[in-house]
Amino acid sequence: EESWQAPEGEPIVRIENVTKRFGTFYAVDDISLQIHQGEFFSLLGASGCGKTTLLRMLAGFETPTSGRLFIDGQDVTDVPPYARPVNMMFQSYALFPHMNVADNIAFGLKQERMPKAERRERVAEMLSLVQIEALASRKPHQLSGGQRQRVALARALARHPKILLLDEPLGALDKKLREQTQFELVNIQERLGITFIVVTHDQEEAMTMSSRIALMHEGRIEQVDPPRRLYEFPSTRYAASFIGSVNLFDGYVLQQDDDQVLVQCDDAETRLLVRHSQPLVPGMAVTVALRPEKMRVLGQLDADTPNQLRGRIKEIAYLGDVSIYHVELPGGKRVQFTQSNVQALAEQPLTWDEEVVLGWSANSCGVLTE
Ligand code: ATP
Repeated sequence: EESWQAPEGEPIVRIENVTKRFGTFYAVDDISLQIHQGEFFSLLGASGCGKTTLLRMLAGFETPTSGRLFIDGQDVTDVPPYARPVNMMFQSYALFPHMNVADNIAFGLKQERMPKAERRERVAEMLSLVQIEALASRKPHQLSGGQRQRVALARALARHPKILLLDEPLGALDKKLREQTQFELVNIQERLGITFIVVTHDQEEAMTMSSRIALMHEGRIEQVDPPRRLYEFPSTRYAASFIGSVNLFDGYVLQQDDDQVLVQCDDAETRLLVRHSQPLVPGMAVTVALRPEKMRVLGQLDADTPNQLRGRIKEIAYLGDVSIYHVELPGGKRVQFTQSNVQALAEQPLTWDEEVVLGWSANSCGVLTE
């Protein structure tokens, strides 16, 4: 189980027990979090979970009700936005409509009284960074959505902030452009070495871009991990269900040997063998999480072997690269499994109402204790 190792030294962002209340409503509820220099860090969660409020507190646009915020070792809890070494790129871009692209990018530099020659050089550097040199004299209304997004990014980066905060940076772009721009954003971030903190509700986007993801839920942090770990080892039911698809089996612990647990499943005729190294007590209620792509079609059921299910295919969704199958178990519970269509072509294609036996290994499922 590979896990993320925090680099040595002071984190660039340290959030300590931060709460933000609006009236009696806790938008952010006692969050503690450390983000390190050079990370591409995402705040991910459903609408209303508090991610924008947390980002706005880092920018200084909101003041925490309680708790402290440190940036680069300095307590900035009471420092106004303009005096923090951060910049924010808004979802709406907020470009100045009457200024051309170059002047939009130069705006912050002018305000901090950067000498003209240096300013011109910096604007040129930014135009080249986001590859819009040819658009320098256009006004925002003469730009496409994707071009406006680049101008907003260039403007936000122009003052070389230590941290760039991005609120749904790709939210206004169509799907195709969004997918291309995800890689570009990572490229730019890696080239500059600046810490990016991004708010997004899109799990694929967060998975594609991030070094680590904080999954938020109702003002709290559900789990913080690199994308692969969040997907492979979700620690809660919420995390397992929010990221990708998952089958959940409730049951109780029968026994545990070394790093494997045997679980009696409540609503399927199977025992589940799961890798899990933390000690669990026999009789304890647990949930086993199994991703749909971890199941394989087997020839026949071997009732003495754990991790096998028998059921009938009740739904088939063909998605091109893969197909999703919904399988109804004898007790009525439904599970989902996916199969690559390349693999399906090589074997016998599965059909509606066909009976199948599914199996998986102990290493491809996990125990959730919350
Ligand atoms: P979205 O993706 O929809 O923007 P979010 O996760 O960014 O959601 P926030 O914008 O942080 O969520 O809002 C969290 C909660 O706090 C919401 O229920 C919101 O209505 C509430 N909230 C945010 N700002 C205020 C405010 N100024 N006054 C009262 N309630 C607020």
